[in-house]
Amino acid sequence: MKELEARIKEDARVLGADILKVDSFLNHQIDPKLMQAMGAEFARLFKDQGITKVITVEASGIAPAVMAGLNLDVPVVFARKSKSRILSDDAYTADVYSYTKQSTNQIRIDKRFLSADDNVLLIDDFLANGQALLGMKALADDAGATIVGAGIVIEKSFQPGRQAAIEAGLTNIHSLAKIDAFEDGQVVFDEAD
Ligand code: 5GP
Repeated sequence: MKELEARIKEDARVLGADILKVDSFLNHQIDPKLMQAMGAEFARLFKDQGITKVITVEASGIAPAVMAGLNLDVPVVFARKSKSRILSDDAYTADVYSYTKQSTNQIRIDKRFLSADDNVLLIDDFLANGQALLGMKALADDAGATIVGAGIVIEKSFQPGRQAAIEAGLTNIHSLAKIDAFEDGQVVFDEAD
């Protein structure tokens, strides 16, 4: 998505070897118009696939997921994160390891909001090592829901997330911007989906 790539070029900053800081428009300060355009693009990519619900993980996935849900006209459910290891009968839970934060969170969705009748679209802000996506997949699988696909705002193609997702049986992954490499602090893009 050209508009997103242009914004990344203009406003994102490369931190260290593999982190992109996008807090001026995506995950701290949010640009609603860009978010709306991304929601429309997700809706275009996943239209006519019988999606009944959009699933994401708090906090950074919520804005793009809400815009996708708005454009697809379906509800959005965000998995809550907690450090708590207390298992609940009323929620689907999965452990997600974050390489960026180097810690494990449990993510959970209340059983009232996900069921075997659902065809779900998974949305996240980044695809890096794939742990967040695999965690969402585990919740959907537990619920017996059908996963229609995954929509990612920014994929770092040089990290193993997509491969891990494919190996876990997750197909139909579309990323609005794909980053091939960071070279001298600059972003090198791959052809987006
Ligand atoms: P994964 O589980 O695929 O390794 O990483 C996904 C999560 O880690 C995303 O939801 C995102 O919050 C965070 N993340 C991974 N890479 C980056 C990055 O380069 N920049 C930012 N801002 N967050 C990232």
